[in-house]
Amino acid sequence: AGRDGLGAYIADPAAFPPNRVIYYNDDFVAIRDMFPKSAVHCLLLPRKVPVDVEMFEVVRSDPAFLAAAQAEAAKLKQLVAKELERKFGRESRSSALRQRVLDSSSSSGDPEAVEKEEWEGKKDGKLPPGRDWAREVKVGIHSNPSMNHLHIHVLSRDMASDSLKHKKHYNSFNTDFFADLDIFPMDDGEVYERKHSDWSSRDLVCWRCGKNFSNKFQKLKEHLAEEFEEWKRE
Ligand code: 5GP
Ligand code: ZN
Repeated sequence: AGRDGLGAYIADPAAFPPNRVIYYNDDFVAIRDMFPKSAVHCLLLPRKVPVDVEMFEVVRSDPAFLAAAQAEAAKLKQLVAKELERKFGRESRSSALRQRVLDSSSSSGDPEAVEKEEWEGKKDGKLPPGRDWAREVKVGIHSNPSMNHLHIHVLSRDMASDSLKHKKHYNSFNTDFFADLDIFPMDDGEVYERKHSDWSSRDLVCWRCGKNFSNKFQKLKEHLAEEFEEWKRE
């Protein structure tokens, strides 16, 4: 437990139930975060990296690792996107429209009215594009992580979760303390960390509309709940 709590998943992923370990292979284990900070929050754990080594160092000494980690994270990102679609697709205007048009074309009834009304482009055999849920998923690492085993966060960007309990939680995912996996490789991790060392004292700023809540975390929480409803409906 404690700072080494992620080690058990790497050592024996088969010992965990499928609602905790999503999948694993020789090189990675994908798990659900035990204290999710968003509606869907997963972690990608590399298995062949020494414990207590930082992303910046691994990437420097093992460039092939970065490519492998980015490819694996892209896979997990698609899984998270699919899960968002399963959870919220019915509430989403664009997801639901696509589904209705798909349903109407396969039903034996008269689909024409629905199609005409909802999707003029259907005449050319096109479907509404639906919602790109992958755009709602963030992939990255904390530049100064609390857990010892290297882990990559893959999470939806809503920040709507009961486990989001204080300012640090929020800012750690919504300032550049959260280093997008795509910014690697970078030359000097230490410079990066120093540059962003004030992340926890910065104002709370809504990820969706940019409203500034200063230090008022409870006010931000209420606002995030409202934004969550709007976000699902996009
Ligand atoms: P970081 O070290 O990047 O700040 O984040 C560590 C993450 O691991 C946190 O999001 C935390 O909720 C999660 N976490 C801490 N302990 C456990 C655990 O035992 N199991 C799982 N699945 N997640 C954990
Ligand atoms: Zn907002």
